[in-house]
Amino acid sequence: MANNRRPEIGSTIAIQKPVFNIILRRLQENGYQIIGPRVKNETLVYGSIENMDELPYGYITEQKAGAFRLIQADHKHYFDAIPGAQSWKQFLFPPCVDLFTLRKNGNGWEISNSKLDSPSYAFIGVRACELAAIQIQDNIFMRPDFADPTYRERRQRVFIVSVNCLAPAGTCFCASMGNGPRVKDGYDLNLTELDDVFLLTVGSELARSLLDGIEYEDASAFMLTTAERSIERAAQQMGRTLDTNDLPELVLKNLDSPHWKEIGERCLSCGNCTQVCPTCFCWDAVDQMSLDGKTTSRTRVWDSCFNPGYSYLAGGNTRPTISSRYRQWLSHKLGTWKEQYGTLGCVGCGRCITWCPAEIDLTEEIAALRKETR
Ligand code: SF4
Ligand code: SF4
Repeated sequence: MANNRRPEIGSTIAIQKPVFNIILRRLQENGYQIIGPRVKNETLVYGSIENMDELPYGYITEQKAGAFRLIQADHKHYFDAIPGAQSWKQFLFPPCVDLFTLRKNGNGWEISNSKLDSPSYAFIGVRACELAAIQIQDNIFMRPDFADPTYRERRQRVFIVSVNCLAPAGTCFCASMGNGPRVKDGYDLNLTELDDVFLLTVGSELARSLLDGIEYEDASAFMLTTAERSIERAAQQMGRTLDTNDLPELVLKNLDSPHWKEIGERCLSCGNCTQVCPTCFCWDAVDQMSLDGKTTSRTRVWDSCFNPGYSYLAGGNTRPTISSRYRQWLSHKLGTWKEQYGTLGCVGCGRCITWCPAEIDLTEEIAALRKETR
């Protein structure tokens, strides 16, 4: 039976799909810029949307090592297309950020810090693996003893509408990593898409207030069971698996394995895997001086441990070979990250597999290392 009282935090309600547009409009009225998945140039990107019509309705994506294809399928879902190369990282930890400018002033220099202002974002359609990646970056950029000002400014104002993922791609393995396809926590609203309705689980007071007066019904036992079964089916349909048993130990005790050299012969050191990875966080600071020498601006840009310059120290490069750079990347993600931050650095989103031009698949590389050590 339809009602319109304010739902409680933790409760799950069912709305007719067009009603979601009202929630988007209310977010906009509250000053949020809505960001969601949208089709662009035959791929999926994250960008500004005004309403549900701009979501990838009826699409799925086919993904395998080195390949991504967007397909118009015969279904009536808005959230079945697994994202492309882009992740939410670009909004919280942007690829390029101005830090400060120095201007010559008489015999000295005047410094002006760049403004931190950014829109308040509402992320629509954040998958479980992506939410886990945001939480990993929270750990890095919002440490109790030091918070990165750019990240904190953006992160603390984000409104998150997450989705339970029901149609994983061929390169997904979030179930192996314990991150999905079910969303656990950290959302304002969590959405499960059934054929006729959206189920919404309320996660915050702000979400509650946005739902004020909206027509909904309490999720029935049938709806909840259907949702549960769909999530379980998705967990079984992951295109990849990764055995995480003894994972940091396995990688760290095999740092001298000949397998790294073999990967180095295939890897192009292009850095795609680090740019698409939602947890990678390396950056560089670049200074640009005006031709008249009166101003210098410092900018933070994404970097990659695959760039030869990244490991260049005075006197030489500490990782001069591609195999040593790949080993660094994987042994950090699945090895030392755990000691450093308490979790593995991979959430199982599969992007690094899909977008690697050499079709290198970390799940296969770990399986090969495991086999070698038997
Ligand atoms: S593993 Fe693939 S994506 Fe990563 S640097 Fe090597 S070739 Fe590029
Ligand atoms: S390492 Fe690969 S699968 Fe893991 S989070 Fe990064 S891009 Fe996703």
